[in-house]
Amino acid sequence: MARQKLRIHYCIVRTTPRLSIFLQAVGAAALVMTALLPATAHARPRAFVRYEHPESARVQPARPKKAAPAKAQAGTVQPATPTGPRVPNELGRIPIVEWHQVVAADGTYKVSRERFRAELRELHTRGYVPVNLSEMLDKTMDVPAGKTPVLFTFDDASPSQFRYIDRNGTLVVDPTSAVGILLDFIKAHPDWKAKGLFCMLPAAEAGHAFFGDKGIDGQKTEWRLKKVQFLAQQGFELCNHTLWHAKLNKYSDAVVQEQLARGAMAIDSAMPGYKVRGFALPYGLWPKNRALAFNGSWFDKKSKRDVRYRHEAVFEVAGGPARSPFDPEFNPKSLPRVPLQGGTKLSATLDQMDKPGKWARYVSDGNPKTVAKP
Ligand SMILES: [Zn+2]
Repeated sequence: MARQKLRIHYCIVRTTPRLSIFLQAVGAAALVMTALLPATAHARPRAFVRYEHPESARVQPARPKKAAPAKAQAGTVQPATPTGPRVPNELGRIPIVEWHQVVAADGTYKVSRERFRAELRELHTRGYVPVNLSEMLDKTMDVPAGKTPVLFTFDDASPSQFRYIDRNGTLVVDPTSAVGILLDFIKAHPDWKAKGLFCMLPAAEAGHAFFGDKGIDGQKTEWRLKKVQFLAQQGFELCNHTLWHAKLNKYSDAVVQEQLARGAMAIDSAMPGYKVRGFALPYGLWPKNRALAFNGSWFDKKSKRDVRYRHEAVFEVAGGPARSPFDPEFNPKSLPRVPLQGGTKLSATLDQMDKPGKWARYVSDGNPKTVAKP
C-alpha cells in the first residue's frame, strides 16, 4: 500500500475582530435593539414563507457527475467500507449535512425526531465524527484514525431545533428538540463532541427568530440571546443566514448588505466579538453581486456606524459531500451540502462515499499534523 505523508505548514490568518471593536465603542444594548427591531423601510420584514420556492428540485440528492474509474491498478486501492478498517485518505470527501426542522414527521425541510436520531446513529456507526467549520477552514481537524469528519449544519433557527422548557424558573433544553436529542446522543457517545454549525435567522416570522419568540412553541422572546450563547458555550459554532431569510437574488446591493450585516450584528449582540465565519444562502440563491455574500457593510443610522461583515465560507443548499480542505480544489466560497429531509436519504450519500471514485470519503490517519493520501 503506497501511502505518502505530506507535511502541512500551518498558516493561521488572523483578522481584525471587526464587530468587537465596534461593539465596545457603542455599547451592546443599543445593538441588541437595532439588530432585533423590525427592519427599516427598504428591508421590511415580510412573511417568512418557507416553502414557496421550488427548492425541492434543487435539493434532490446529488450524484457524482462521473463515476470516476479507479485510477490505481486493481488491488492497490481498497474501497472504504461501512465498518472499516479504512485506508487513510485525507483528500477524500466530507459530508456537510443540513437539517431544517426536526418535528413529528418527515416532510419538505423536515425530518422526524426518530429519523434524526437514526441519522445520528448511522453516522456514528459508519465511523463519522463531528467537526466544526473553523477546524475545516483552519485545517486543524483532529479525527481518530480510520474515521471521517462530518459537519452538521442546522438552518433557520426554528424552535424545533432548540426549545427551552421552564421548570420552576430553571430553563432546561427540551429533550425532544434537535439540540436536546443531539446533546443526549453525545452524552451516550463520548467520542463525539458538541460540534456543528447553526445558520440562524434573528428576525424572521413564525418563530424563526433565534429559535422562537412571542410564545410560539412555548418559547419566550427573552430567551433568544440565551440560546445563542448556550450553543456557543457547548462548542457549536454560529453562522449567518440573513436577517429574515431574504431571497438575495431579488434585492439591491444595499438590501443584501443590510440583511447580512444585521444578521451578523444580531449574533454579535449575543456573543460580543464573535467572528462569524460562515453564511448559508437562503434557498441557495446568490445575490446579483456575488462578492457581497462574502464582504460588505451597512450604515446603522442608530449608532451612526458602518457595520461590516466578512464570511470566509458560503454554503449552498445541496451538491453532495464537500471536498477536503487539503484538496487543492477545496473552495470554501461555495460549499456543497447534503440536505436531509423528506425524499432524501442519508444512507444513499454515505453508500456512495464508501465506493472508490469522486465521492470517496475522507479517512483520517489520526495525526492532525500530516495529510495522508492513498
Ligand atoms: Zn434557510
